[in-house]
Amino acid sequence: MLTYFSSFEGSMQNDFYKDLLDNLYDGVYFVDTTRTITYWNKGAERISGYSADEVAGRSCADNLLMHVDDAGNQLCTCGCPLASTLKDGKLREAEVYLHHKDGHRVPVRIRITPITDEQDIITGAVEIFSDNAGQREIRHELSEMKHLSMLDTLTRLGNRRAASEDFERKIKALRNFKTPFGLLFVDIDGFKQINDSHGHEVGDRVLAMVAKSLTSALRGVDKVSRWGGEEFLALIPGVDAARFRAIAERMRRLVEASALPLPSGLLRVTVSVGGSMAQPTDTLESLVQRADEMMYRAKSSGRNCTSLDCA
Ligand code: GH3
Ligand code: MG
Ligand code: MG
Repeated sequence: MLTYFSSFEGSMQNDFYKDLLDNLYDGVYFVDTTRTITYWNKGAERISGYSADEVAGRSCADNLLMHVDDAGNQLCTCGCPLASTLKDGKLREAEVYLHHKDGHRVPVRIRITPITDEQDIITGAVEIFSDNAGQREIRHELSEMKHLSMLDTLTRLGNRRAASEDFERKIKALRNFKTPFGLLFVDIDGFKQINDSHGHEVGDRVLAMVAKSLTSALRGVDKVSRWGGEEFLALIPGVDAARFRAIAERMRRLVEASALPLPSGLLRVTVSVGGSMAQPTDTLESLVQRADEMMYRAKSSGRNCTSLDCA
């Protein structure tokens, strides 16, 4: 069919194909080898705001659609997919933003196909663009929902599901690239007593305070999440035993050095930290179990201390 359209203007007397193209919901336009627009369907008018009369004879690079990518790069001047297809005859697909006649940007998915004559010489190209706004909105909502489903609303840390996804990424890196990582299990000491003495609302504020101090103790690559209740879990990649211990100690000390201001005075808490380095055969459960056992050792050693199962 595209070969048929190679001498496009002449063959467009064929009303059947013209009607077919005009009734497509997608935008369709044809260019010749100089990127001059030779056909513009109704879908293209609807999506771009430009009528066929307005674009006829103009070059698509001529301040018309001015596709930009996500990063805002002007594709007309650097990396125009139409120009590339006219050169190499390859099909191309991309998600870009076109310039609407009213000035705003419209997200579209474009597909470009070369038009060839009977001798397979490229005589032009066709670009089909689909209105992508709905799709993007759905994707945005999905990623928002995913974000919310992995967030602990009280502490603004990731929740157990986030920890689990982070573990999967890190265990793969350990198995495939031998990138070590350790897991720290953090439990607030005597937290029940805090709730009993000061009320649940103060308990919640303590949880938020501890979450922030734990985050402050970590590097950018480390991830801390709320495992549940007054328990937190941190995954620490790329460390040897000494560095692992230093990070665990910093978490403990920063919580110890935190204080929640209450009318009755400053409220301080401490944490017990247990840690274990991951083995390639670990599951999240097996690793958490070892770190949890070490955390209980820290509790039985008097609390407010760290206990790791590596040298
Ligand atoms: P230990 O030093 O042995 O860890 O003692 P603990 O009191 O911290 O341990 P325990 O497990 O007995 O108590 C945990 C308490 O945490 C009990 C529960 O009411 C409280 N808790 C769990 N989730 C929340 C929450 O979201 N908000 C508040 N305020 N309290 C919570
Ligand atoms: Mg606990
Ligand atoms: Mg506790």
